[in-house]
Order: sequence, then structure tokens, then C-alpha cells
Amino acid sequence: MSTAIVVGSGPNGLAAAVALAREGVQVTVLEAADAIGGGTRSGELTPGLLHDHCSATHPMAVGSPFLRTLGLDRYGLRWCLPEIDCVHPLDSGEAGVLYRSVRETARGLGVSDGRLWQRVFGHLADGYDALAEDVMRPLLRLPRHPLRLGAFGVQALLPAGAVAALWRSARARALFAGVAAHAFRPLHRPATAGVGSLIIAAGHRYGWPVAAGGSRAITDALAALLADLGGGIETGVRVRSMADLPPADVVLFDLAPRAVADILGDRLPGRTARAYRRFRHGPGAFKVDFAVEGGVPWTNGSARRAGTVHLGGTYAEIARAERLIHAGRMPERPFVLVGQQYLADPQRSNGDIHPVWTYAHVPHGYDGDATEAIVRQIERFAPGFRERVLDMAVRSPAALEEYNANYVGGDIVTGANSVAQLVTRPRLARDPYSTGVPGMFICSAASPPGAGAHGMCGANAAEQALRHLARARAETGRTRKPSSAQG
Ligand SMILES: Cc1cc2nc3c(=O)[nH]c(=O)nc-3n(C[C@H](O)[C@H](O)[C@H](O)COP(=O)(O)OP(=O)(O)OC[C@H]3O[C@@H](n4cnc5c(N)ncnc54)[C@H](O)[C@@H]3O)c2cc1C
Repeated sequence: MSTAIVVGSGPNGLAAAVALAREGVQVTVLEAADAIGGGTRSGELTPGLLHDHCSATHPMAVGSPFLRTLGLDRYGLRWCLPEIDCVHPLDSGEAGVLYRSVRETARGLGVSDGRLWQRVFGHLADGYDALAEDVMRPLLRLPRHPLRLGAFGVQALLPAGAVAALWRSARARALFAGVAAHAFRPLHRPATAGVGSLIIAAGHRYGWPVAAGGSRAITDALAALLADLGGGIETGVRVRSMADLPPADVVLFDLAPRAVADILGDRLPGRTARAYRRFRHGPGAFKVDFAVEGGVPWTNGSARRAGTVHLGGTYAEIARAERLIHAGRMPERPFVLVGQQYLADPQRSNGDIHPVWTYAHVPHGYDGDATEAIVRQIERFAPGFRERVLDMAVRSPAALEEYNANYVGGDIVTGANSVAQLVTRPRLARDPYSTGVPGMFICSAASPPGAGAHGMCGANAAEQALRHLARARAETGRTRKPSSAQG
């Protein structure tokens, strides 16, 4: 039986492990932390409340071409949809409101902007499943649906600013800007429309659900399936060098590229080592989880019913804040994301005390305290919020990196989403998952298709690892010599 080691138990590591184990490979996952899950963990960050440590909202996971094939509902994974996916309030009191339904969203944006929203996102949402088959894989390969991918590509390659400018109203522009800002890139840069358009399309297809019982339910379901397939997981095992790796036919690293370069050292071909060490990380996140009595007193009524609220004001203000953090400067009013997962999944609350998830976009490695900036942004659209806060848990970029080594400098998307890195992450190669060392692969969000708890980086890398095993078996059959990743 072939054997595999997966280093790291984030959603990509676990997806890779499951993809290998279901093909009969004996898999062991090694995880540095005491708990599995990487960016999909949840727990009591404040007493008595269930908080998501990292990922919260999962349009990309529920629509993941791989996760959808696993039947994870059999392992307790249940998606809960908020009444409204996302609200982007403005100082005027009005707001851009994103519903699962394209039509309802369009209706809220007025006749002209609504018609345009429908035209821009309606066909993307209708064809999302086919589109995902191409965009959730390495882009430098023959697409399965070239016309659909080509049509999306034209829009995706534009700066978010160019797409936002299509709409007349401040609320429609801001709504798009807030979703596009998930890419952590200045909105005037090329290809910043792509990430936002994809998340909106996924949302119109599947909604922006949260996992019942916290994002850790995704981890728990994958781990339970892996156990059923005979795989094992060891926690508290930090892999620092080749010496820490047990012998195996293939090794998959759910790690940032520089960590892989450190582990593989001289074994890594020079071109891969250079690319991994040059790999660029993006700005950071500063996370604050609040315990809030009575919830957030939003002025805008829709925001009180939304799973996610984007705070940053108009398109121009968000664009400026994103430009500043990219240049290493902390804006007075950063872009802030607020998660109210308890609205769809009330078991996370304790009576009338609710867990409210927030993070601000900050410069890479920011060593200041953004807590007050986050509180001020919430107060701006929900006066009285401050008085309702009973407790909070704060994580700076350094604390996030301490929590998970993949978040270099607080970069929670594991690699800047520049055009070059969107297309050729983590390096330019026919097989981007290959490290160039036979049998060793990278499978983290630093590889295609990038960040999110969708498991697609892991599933795609596992496909390459299985090809390697099949080739090695054929070779062994011809030469009768064993093949091993440990050489
Ligand atoms: C605050 C925050 C909010 C987010 N919000 C969302 C969201 O709402 N929706 C969404 O889809 N995504 C979100 N994300 C992003 C998402 O969580 C990540 O893109 C995803 O978890 C990446 O998965 P991964 O498997 O590549 O790596 P990770 O989840 O980062 O897992 C890597 C694992 O490897 C382990 N590890 C690291 N180094 C070693 C080592 N040397 N040896 C052994 N183990 C090691 C780590 O401990 C970790 O468990 C968010 C992330 C953060 C931090």
C-alpha cells in the first residue's frame, strides 16, 4: 500500500488527506498545533460563546467542486444561511444589500443599477458550477469550459474600480468594493475585480452560509471521514526539517512556500527555492472577537439581519484604505469585516449575549493596536455599540502568525493576490503543486486556487500526488525497483 504524509491540517491539508485516502493510500497528517483545522477552528474565545477563530462565511466551501463530492453532511456538517448575506452601510443611513437571490439584490439597488447587477452577476451565478471547475484549478491549463472562462476572464482581469464605476449609486459601488476588498489588494490594480466577482457569484448560487456549530464543523467532518478511510492525524508535531518527516511515498505540505523551502533545504531545486523565497505575502489582518449584549445596534435595519457587514464607507474611502495598508501605512478608518454568524446559528450565543467576529485590514506585520479603530468603525454605523461590549479577544498580525505559521505577517490569505501570483502561485510551472522534489507537493492556499476553506488546493495537489504514485508503480513494475519520496 502507498503511504503519504500531509504536513498541516488546515482545510487543504485535510482535503488532500481525504483525496489520497479514498484512493487507498495510507495517510498520516502531522499538525503543529494542539488542535486540528488551521483556518477552520472555533472555540470559546470569550467565556460561554462560540467564536470562529478564523474563517466564518463559506460561499466557496459550500460550492467547492471537491467538498461537494464528499457527503460531509453524513459527518455532521450542516450549512446555515443568514436571512441576508451581506450589508454595506453608508454614513447616509442607506446600504448596499447582498441577498442570495440576484433578483432581490438587484431590486434593492434601484432600476438602473439593479438591471446592471443582474446583467453582470446573473449569468455568472447561473454558470457558477461550470466556472468553478476551471477557476478552482490552476489557470495555466486547458479549461473545461473555455467560453465561460474567457467571458469571466475579461471581467476578472479588470481593476475593481473599473467594475465599481459601472454603477451609479454610492451603495452599489460600495457593495462591490467591500466584496472585492477580500482580495487584500488596492482596488485600482488589475484583476482585483476577479476575487470579488467570484465571491458574489458563489453567493448568488449558494448563499454565504456558516457552518452549524462553528467553522470547526468543516474540520471535524473532514477528520471523521479521513478516520473512516483509515487515515490518522497526529497533533503537536511541528515539522522543521526533513529529519522530522517519517518515510512515505509522497509528502504534501499544507504550508507557506518559505516554510517548505526551509524544510526541504538543499533538496529543493534552485529554481523552486528561489521562487518560494521570493513568494510575496500581502497585508495583514487584526482580529477582534467581541461578546456583545443584545447584538450590534446597527442604524441600518438590514444590517441587523445580515451574516456579514462590511464597514469602510464609500468606494473611494475603501480604495484609499486598501492603498494605504498596501503601502505599509495604517489608515485611520480601515476596512473592517463584521461577522454575525449567530443570526444563522443561534447555538453560538449565550442568552442575549452574542459572539461578534471582526477583523480590520492592516499593513503587513502591523505592530500597533487596531482595536479602537475597529470599535470606532462599528460605532460609526451602530452608535451605542461600545456600551454593549462585555468582553473581547484580540489577535494582532503577530499573534495570528503565532497561532498559525502560514499567516506570515498576519497575511491570512497566504500570499499576495497580485496578477502574477493569482496566475502562477506559488511558482511558474506546469504543475504548480510540485516542489520539484519527486513525490513532494505543496497544497496550501499559497497554491491554486488560493485562499478560502474550499479544500481545492489540497484536492488538486492530491491529484498530482496520485499521478506520481501511479507513475512510480508503473516504473517499479518495469524496473522492479522501489520508489520513495525519501529517496
Ligand atoms: C481571520 C480569518 C478570517 C478568514 N475568513 C474566511 C472566511 O470567512 N471564509 C473563507 O473561506 N476563508 C476565510 N479565511 C481564510 C481561510 O481560513 C484560509 O484560506 C484557509 O484556512 C487556508 O487553508 P490551508 O489548509 O491552506 O491552511 P491553514 O488553514 O492555514 O492550515 C495550515 C495548518 O498547518 C499547520 N502548520 C503550519 N506550519 C506547520 C509545521 N511546520 N508543521 C506542522 N504543521 C504546521 C498550521 O498549524 C495549520 O493548522 C480566513 C482566515 C482568517 C485567519
